[in-house]
Amino acid sequence: MAKMKALVCRECGKEYPTKAIHVCEMCFGPLEVKYNYSEIKKTISRKKIEAGPHSMWRYIDLLPIEGGATVGPYAGFTPMVRAHNLGAYLGLDELYIKNDTVNHPTLSFKDRVVAVALTRARELGFETVACASTGNLANSVAAHAAAAGMHCYVFIPGDLEAAKVLGNLIYRPNVVEVEGNYDDVNRLCSEIAGEHGWAFVNINIRPYYAEGSKTLAFETVEQLGWRTPDQVVVPMASGSLLTKIWKGLIEMQALGLVDAVRTKINGAQAEGCSPIATAYKEGRDFFRPVKPKTIAKSLAIGNPADGYYALKATAESRGAMDMVSDDEVVEGIKLLAQTEGIFAETAGGVTIGVLRKLVKQGVIKKSDVTVAYITGNGLKTQEAVIDAVGRPVRIQPSLVSFERTFKMGKNGGGAA
Ligand SMILES: *Cc1c(COP(=O)(O)O)cnc(C)c1O
Repeated sequence: MAKMKALVCRECGKEYPTKAIHVCEMCFGPLEVKYNYSEIKKTISRKKIEAGPHSMWRYIDLLPIEGGATVGPYAGFTPMVRAHNLGAYLGLDELYIKNDTVNHPTLSFKDRVVAVALTRARELGFETVACASTGNLANSVAAHAAAAGMHCYVFIPGDLEAAKVLGNLIYRPNVVEVEGNYDDVNRLCSEIAGEHGWAFVNINIRPYYAEGSKTLAFETVEQLGWRTPDQVVVPMASGSLLTKIWKGLIEMQALGLVDAVRTKINGAQAEGCSPIATAYKEGRDFFRPVKPKTIAKSLAIGNPADGYYALKATAESRGAMDMVSDDEVVEGIKLLAQTEGIFAETAGGVTIGVLRKLVKQGVIKKSDVTVAYITGNGLKTQEAVIDAVGRPVRIQPSLVSFERTFKMGKNGGGAA
């Protein structure tokens, strides 16, 4: 029997065939993949996973494709960094950074979801792929499409960072810059998706795409020696990643790969675009859309598709949510770089800023095994920190100039 059973409506439970559809025609609820867990349980084991490829595809039994990984075979299995220095600074005994700044090939967590989406799109017979993006998704779709020889359209907002624009153009897809914010781009793309027979990875392919995020949960558990963490901190844009980390943990429990899950799922947003975290703080289970204004552009979704489900996952796991200012985002980026040598993009600054706040509030405790998800690379958002890092020390090409600048004695030592 196939591992995928159906697509199922998250609201009314109506089932659909596993095609390129994403909304329930009865109640307009979002669809998600339903698996044959009893079948999967017969073959999956820690041992089998450990013997798998050095990529996210070691969890292929829990990913929504029928054949093998034809697109994005190297994505995932990024380092789980034991953050001794940052942990000591924050007062945490056991802190880890899940480092997706070095994901393959485009340096963000989006390489996971795109590898799944494009593999599935191909299985469904699509030749053209597309996406509505806050930046990283477009980079990943463009790169994977180039390698897979697929036609590609990426739609981006008009105010993206230079490296994220260039990081599309270099692969030569059709790059469409829309005069508006992400929510405008997304609305337009929903209309285009209705007109053209393309695989929009985060629209009609979304049920498959989203499943790729579960691999961050699977890797976390395996890399901790098959332990579930006590606390995780997850950045939120649409809220999809957060909901899927929770789903991934619950799946591992259901399949007997781990004991009872007690992980608290904490969500992080930037103040300038925090519809989900604001709803949490105000005790609501629904969010109010906002107009984004923050340097954390990769998270700048004012009307988050999975906001409701993210609030639900955090509530079910008894986690928390919080938000940080743009200044705190920059501080978070610098703190992670200066303690652990990891240069994150603005979303990483959001994660570290919120981690710091939750520790200060006593929500995350000293002895809690904690994982912070760092989902994108700092070289892509240089604009955010360029004025906050100073300039190099400039000298003449002579020993005298060097010695004078650093005022060193005969035995070295001393600093400017
Ligand atoms: C897309 C993205 C996220 C989270 O996206 P969701 O829409 O919430 O799944 C987090 N970090 C970075 C860097 C991203 O690009």
